[in-house]
Amino acid sequence: MLCDLKNRRAEYLRLSVTDLCNLRCQYCMPLEGGPHFGKEKILSFEEITRLIGILSGLGIRRVRLTGGEPLVRKSLPILVEQICSVPGIEEVVLTTNGLLLKDQVQNLKAAGLARINVHLDTLSPEKFHHITRWGKIEQVFEGIKAAIDAGFDFIKLNMVLQKGINDDEVPNMLRFAASQGMVLRVIELMPIGEALTQEDHFISVSQVREKLKQEFTLLPSLSKWGHGPAVYQHVSELKTDIGFISPISSPFCDTCNRIRISSDGRLQDCLAYDGDVSLRDCLRNSRMSDDEISAIIRRRIHFKVEGHGGFLQKEGERTPCMYGIGG
Ligand code: SAM
Ligand code: SF4
Repeated sequence: MLCDLKNRRAEYLRLSVTDLCNLRCQYCMPLEGGPHFGKEKILSFEEITRLIGILSGLGIRRVRLTGGEPLVRKSLPILVEQICSVPGIEEVVLTTNGLLLKDQVQNLKAAGLARINVHLDTLSPEKFHHITRWGKIEQVFEGIKAAIDAGFDFIKLNMVLQKGINDDEVPNMLRFAASQGMVLRVIELMPIGEALTQEDHFISVSQVREKLKQEFTLLPSLSKWGHGPAVYQHVSELKTDIGFISPISSPFCDTCNRIRISSDGRLQDCLAYDGDVSLRDCLRNSRMSDDEISAIIRRRIHFKVEGHGGFLQKEGERTPCMYGIGG
């Protein structure tokens, strides 16, 4: 079991399969792209599957594939199938910008993918193009439709709140999500990577919630939506729920149940710090057994940091980017 000094148990893994992306969201990735790890440095499917076997032995039960954009990694459905077949793994889910969903979603479903979160900050084609620097929103809509047609229900729509850019769109995003049987989640902008210098765009979920209350009746939600940090409320008029994720205004570090692995195999105990243990080096060391790697992971997570500290660590200690670690 993975348990730390604060008695938090980790049973959820967020695994980045690539640090590449086909978009350049203004708050995430620089226009020129990142200083990428390169093909040799990222974990192969075989390495990932072995690692998840080890983590399953330590109590990890659910795996979220993320990135960068996970669907730019070739043959992702094969990886999904391999992870699903690891004994002890109960659920494999995906976070995507949706651009490449249309062509891959059938294979992902067949491979055993359980659920999908789609990242969408706006319904406006122009704004989408602006935020992502070149994205075509139609591709996301097509991806969502294809996912629904393939049988994925209760898709979660992740909207990163940006004051003065998209905060006025929450009611319309809510109506859109409800009309498609999806669940909207609004997320506070975290000062990581490109967003480090964008504090002017920060708006808290409570400010958004207060504004929503002028238009909708928000009640406690009776549904159970996964195991994450979102706080859900029911929107009476639309017969839907909305999730509020507040890493900055109301951190949920005390109940953190997750660990992360970056695409180059670094074990991350928190989004706010760069991983200091290379599991890739362990996996590629022919003298290291699964038991030895397991012990390294257990020891490292035992000393998991208490919290993200507002992401305001000293310069060299701060997580460089979301796409590098896996948001
Ligand atoms: N490319 C996929 C996507 O966009 O969903 C998966 C990776 S992305 C890094 C995962 C999530 O991180 C997205 O929902 C994105 O909006 C969010 N994200 C990126 N930078 C963020 C920031 N500075 N603050 C809050 N959320 C952020
Ligand atoms: Fe790409 Fe996701 Fe980052 Fe946007 S948030 S640049 S889609 S990795």
